[in-house]
Amino acid sequence: MATYHGPRCRQCRSHGMKLFIKGQRCYTDKCAFERRAYGPGQHGNTRRRRKTTEYGIQLKEKQKAKRTYGVLERQFKNYYKEAERQAGVTGENLMRLLERRLDNIMYRLGFAASRSGARQLVRHGHVRVNGRKVDIPSYLVTLGDEIEVKEKSRSIPEVRMSVDAKAGVGTVEWLELDPKKFSGRVLEMPSRAQIPSPVDEQLIVNFYSR
Ligand code: SF4
Repeated sequence: MATYHGPRCRQCRSHGMKLFIKGQRCYTDKCAFERRAYGPGQHGNTRRRRKTTEYGIQLKEKQKAKRTYGVLERQFKNYYKEAERQAGVTGENLMRLLERRLDNIMYRLGFAASRSGARQLVRHGHVRVNGRKVDIPSYLVTLGDEIEVKEKSRSIPEVRMSVDAKAGVGTVEWLELDPKKFSGRVLEMPSRAQIPSPVDEQLIVNFYSR
């Protein structure tokens, strides 16, 4: 499937929830979902809802996960295959794989206001993992990894704005954040309960198990 280039807010409106794709704007009253919390399109607020099939519900949940993490179809399927191969619960494994992506970690640590902003930072070589430059957004971090914004890159306005906006908020419990050093560390691999994501992964498992 090709990359989605359309309006990103439309995706939130079609899923009926905020997916926080656009960064700072998502936290302001300019958020399209706050202003128009109904489906996109000319008749989005008046159209009668058609009965959704079980397949449709599962498909939509998969799309939601893909859009939330900014992953394309083939890559997402590969994550699913890997999750299935791993020991344990497939859905939980899938969520853990998505969370371990370097762009997601940068977002969780608050160095970028959105995952797409984080992806750009990584791609442009502003991030180090264990002291070495990593410019692959899908790089999977592992236990004990140290992630930092390069010293020269700490003055980038988007980074500073995001750090300031999230000052005092902290991060998820499985990461350790040092905002003064613009760095973080992976303390443990997260359990599903430690992942604040509005995805029902069981529906995705059911989708691929058809
Ligand atoms: Fe979604 Fe953010 Fe757009 Fe609001 S501003 S609709 S949360 S992408």
